[in-house]
Amino acid sequence: MSNLDELLRRRHRVLGRNSPLFYDEPLNLVRGEGVWVYDALGRAYLDVYNNVPCVGHCHPHVVEAVARQTATLNLHTRYLDENLLAYAERLTASFDESLNAIMLTCSGTEANELALRLARFVTGAEGIIVSDNSYHGNSTILAALTSCFPAGEPFPAHARAVRVPDPTYDRQGRTDEELAAVYARQVQEAVDSLQAAGIKVAALLFDSFFANEGLPDRVPGYVEQAVKIVRRAGGVFICDEVQSGFGRTGDAMWGHRRTGVTPDIVTMGKPMGNGYPVAGMVTRRDWIDRFGLTSHYFNTFAGNAVAAAAGAAVLDVIERQELLSNSRRVGAHVRAGLEKLATKHPIIAGVRGRGLFFGVELVRPADRAPAADETKRIVNRMRDGGVLLSRTGRYNNVLKMRPPLVFSVDNADQLLSVMDDVLRSL
Ligand code: PMP
Repeated sequence: MSNLDELLRRRHRVLGRNSPLFYDEPLNLVRGEGVWVYDALGRAYLDVYNNVPCVGHCHPHVVEAVARQTATLNLHTRYLDENLLAYAERLTASFDESLNAIMLTCSGTEANELALRLARFVTGAEGIIVSDNSYHGNSTILAALTSCFPAGEPFPAHARAVRVPDPTYDRQGRTDEELAAVYARQVQEAVDSLQAAGIKVAALLFDSFFANEGLPDRVPGYVEQAVKIVRRAGGVFICDEVQSGFGRTGDAMWGHRRTGVTPDIVTMGKPMGNGYPVAGMVTRRDWIDRFGLTSHYFNTFAGNAVAAAAGAAVLDVIERQELLSNSRRVGAHVRAGLEKLATKHPIIAGVRGRGLFFGVELVRPADRAPAADETKRIVNRMRDGGVLLSRTGRYNNVLKMRPPLVFSVDNADQLLSVMDDVLRSL
């Protein structure tokens, strides 16, 4: 029995058979550095998938900050901690003025859960509107709202799901303006349907980049209209930046900056501590103050001294290594390269994304149907070629790429060259 088989057998026994695992032949990764990860045999893989180590695997500045604070003191937020305050001040300063206070959590799930609690508190309402191919977390409430993975729980009576427009499939000769209006109407219908059931809308919960929806190209005006409808009905807009925050999209620290909307609540997580579990929810200070009067919120590990050190170190590196402009510059290079590949390989129906967050949409050349099986095969063959990526989207036919933000033009060229070979070999 090979070592891999043995690890799999042990995994199935102790974690269960259905704990999700990437690749037909799973990877046993043991070390990482920058954009590279290494398996147990010492083989290097270019990481084009993992956004959590956003400043690069094992970045020495983050490692040092975490190690130093771990060796100094690590306690929770019921004591004064100047480092945490400095971090929170710095982070909230990266948002529009109205988003000026933060509550810390350990995961994106907890941040979204707290955001829903807060939304219900400030609106006195219960209804939630999400997209119909979304994921926002694994708690009881969020699992029930999940539609892009099997969740095993009934979709709740207090929620409605709307389809986010995907110009590739939904355009049907319509202009952006028409598309935005038609799909925003679904949001109005969701509000009306909730009201007809005696439920008022508390929140619209959208990912700012619609990552789990397959990174559809933005339809200008859609989110703006959807938010307007929800606000008019008394609800608030929760913007989930768990995947798209921290410079991922290249334009700014936050994906929602591409829209003309300032959210009422923003949630974040994944890349926030470069792997150390830090997440949070930013919103208006007066809401947090009011909420805190009647609703106790304490989270043992969230915002502890090491979390604050990790978070601050990530911000240091983003600034010092100018990772926003790297994301924009290298992202433009990747996008141009992918578009060139699209001219050579008819399976590529379109290239999506911006900054260092990309999708390549694949269809069967014969009938233009979503090429889900081929997409899976490509993901596996890319891994064999030493490049890690994954897939997403409504039809599971979008290659998903979100490398650490330190991804270089050379790394991009390697990705493009391996992808070219893999597509040619299909
Ligand atoms: N929101 C989005 C958009 C996500 O993609 C995820 C995780 N994939 C979450 C929230 C949940 O975050 P976590 O796994 O940290 O709970």
